[in-house]
Amino acid sequence: MSDRYLNVDDTLYHYLVEHGVREHPAQIALRDATRSHPAAGMQIGPDQGALLALLVKVIGAKRTIEIGVFTGYSALSVALALPDDGVVLACDINEAYTAIGQPHWRAAGVTKKIDLRLAPALQTLDAELAAGRAGTYDFAFIDADKTGYDGYVERCLQLLRPGGLIAIDNVLWSGSVAKPSTSEDTRALQALNAKLKDDPRIDLVMLPIGDGLTLARKR
Ligand code: CA
Repeated sequence: MSDRYLNVDDTLYHYLVEHGVREHPAQIALRDATRSHPAAGMQIGPDQGALLALLVKVIGAKRTIEIGVFTGYSALSVALALPDDGVVLACDINEAYTAIGQPHWRAAGVTKKIDLRLAPALQTLDAELAAGRAGTYDFAFIDADKTGYDGYVERCLQLLRPGGLIAIDNVLWSGSVAKPSTSEDTRALQALNAKLKDDPRIDLVMLPIGDGLTLARKR
């Protein structure tokens, strides 16, 4: 393995973030505000935020979906990359988590771009489909309950336009996906990874950034 991927220790990761990521002051402040949170590990890394932002710009995304907001760093990263009339349909069920992000969304001036829906994501996505908005979204980021991923991917494949991009977080699950497991979360990720590998509806690449990120482009 060592000849394929660098061993990114703390020193090298710090260098990478220092030289490879441009953060808005509100992003830095939101990371600081989340650092001491007991669930801080649920926040994506700043390098992942920068990747999502760049992808949004590369594909010219305007309408985006986020499933799993936590304290709002990824929504902030994407919103900053969107044009003025862009939108993040931000789905989460935890009001306390998302409340941590809101002052920082305001500080960055992106609150009007973030349409926060506090409800089960499937409910929100199904309502979008029922409202005839299939094919109207450009980008989706999935980072929520792992057993729900398959349902989220299926909804996003309907809601995205051809050429739209889905980013799926935690697909390597600390390495546990590569071994037999009885964990429901691990098995859900294993099943999804196996399904997407040969799914004719998408082009894909799985990247070892963060805890593993799959990029799937809708054909
Ligand atoms: Ca995650």
